[in-house]
Amino acid sequence: MNYLSTRGHPDRKRFCEILLEGLAPDGGLYLPEHYPQVDTATLAKWRDLPYAELAFEILSLYIDDIPPADLKAICAKTYTPEVFGSEEIVPLRELEDGVYLEALSNGPTLAFKDMAMQLLGNLFEYELARRGAELNILGATSGDTGSAAEYAMRGKKGVRVFMTSPDGRMSPFQQAQMFSLQDENIHNIAITGVFDDCQDIVKAVSNDLGFKRKYRIGTVNSINWARLLAQVVYYFAGYFQATAGNDKPVSFTVPSGNFGNVCAGHVARMMGLPIHTLVVATNENDVLDEFFRTGIYRVRAAADTHETSSPSMDISKASNFERFVFDLVGRDAAKLRSLFVDHLGSQARFDLSGEPAFKQAAERFGFKSSRSTHADRLATIRDTEKRFATLVDPHTADGLKAAREHLTPGVPMVVLETALPIKFAATLVEALGHEPARPARFEGIEALPKRVVKLPADVEAVKAYIAQNCD
Ligand SMILES: *Cc1c(COP(=O)(O)O)cnc(C)c1O
Repeated sequence: MNYLSTRGHPDRKRFCEILLEGLAPDGGLYLPEHYPQVDTATLAKWRDLPYAELAFEILSLYIDDIPPADLKAICAKTYTPEVFGSEEIVPLRELEDGVYLEALSNGPTLAFKDMAMQLLGNLFEYELARRGAELNILGATSGDTGSAAEYAMRGKKGVRVFMTSPDGRMSPFQQAQMFSLQDENIHNIAITGVFDDCQDIVKAVSNDLGFKRKYRIGTVNSINWARLLAQVVYYFAGYFQATAGNDKPVSFTVPSGNFGNVCAGHVARMMGLPIHTLVVATNENDVLDEFFRTGIYRVRAAADTHETSSPSMDISKASNFERFVFDLVGRDAAKLRSLFVDHLGSQARFDLSGEPAFKQAAERFGFKSSRSTHADRLATIRDTEKRFATLVDPHTADGLKAAREHLTPGVPMVVLETALPIKFAATLVEALGHEPARPARFEGIEALPKRVVKLPADVEAVKAYIAQNCD
């Protein structure tokens, strides 16, 4: 399998080459040259496989530069009941007639990002050992991504993590999750500033090519193809659990931010998984909902990005969206470049409303969307507790509300649960008047010793810290 850039660069790459890379050299995102097709006979064969074996089957279609036995071992080591809390790994439960919750948040950091990041940690360790190389991951986080990356990379040979976060701005639980890690290769850097300062520092360091090369700086951001690929697997697993051996279609609703999660659903659908509808759920940051309703993609300024009670969906532009638009415009790289380079570059928007391609988003690719507000989240959290004695986190609540707006009679609707409620306790307390239950392994983590350095919002200070800790 070869990978190409959405922006038309002539080079073709193999999986392990793009594993450790971010963007393609022309600024585009990597996609496979084609989507392998899965027929009904294959679906039937995969239906009863344990999750790790299903992951191996799907990954094998996209990865041909790791020997199968090694890839199988990596999957087996990653997706275990010990790490993800159950034999099913992503158990499905029916909430009400035809509406299901697929649990993706029982990994080490209680959010769905573990599903991909845990695999990435093992793939990185494998590939770096094979090359005799090292990697220093530099990132910025306001919560879920940073902790998922740290729990995936802790103790891994050849990898260090330098994770910046805005000092004092994460929830106490999220801070405790990250800062309580005592592993030598994990470095928490609290920046006196806001999340944008952290992101600016990461960008500035990455743009210093000399420094980047000398200190082998890399990232684990959501545009990494391996992360997306790992997420394709749980669409298959959810589908199998929601159906009973027939080829009937299933719909999915996905709480969305950077469009990574739902893009994996798009890939699964392109492979032939019978997905009826993919519902994109957004919060007040409704860049994506606006596109699917109107055909206009309008990137927001940082000042127009709302801080909401589903903070992992607070985005001003959706970094993975380019992958879907590439397919939407018939994989026409010149057209893609005119939209993402010319139009977005000069006007921060593009408009497909008058073009046939826009109609295809719904008709051919099955996309729908909805938007929620803070009041909707509170109402959904209350209603779900009252009627089903189930607690959902604010992101999953956005999903549930959207799902109910797009039900098709006879088609199961699977809502992806993207985090556990304890991660966002303040909003649960606001909605319900009480704290959600906390898994035993997180009892008292706020009181554990913290390993973190505080640095000013200054690129040179961060570079100096990395240099000091890289020997
Ligand atoms: C990251 C995240 C999202 C958004 O996922 P994308 O892949 O960026 O669309 C939604 N909910 C939670 C809890 C998250 O951590």
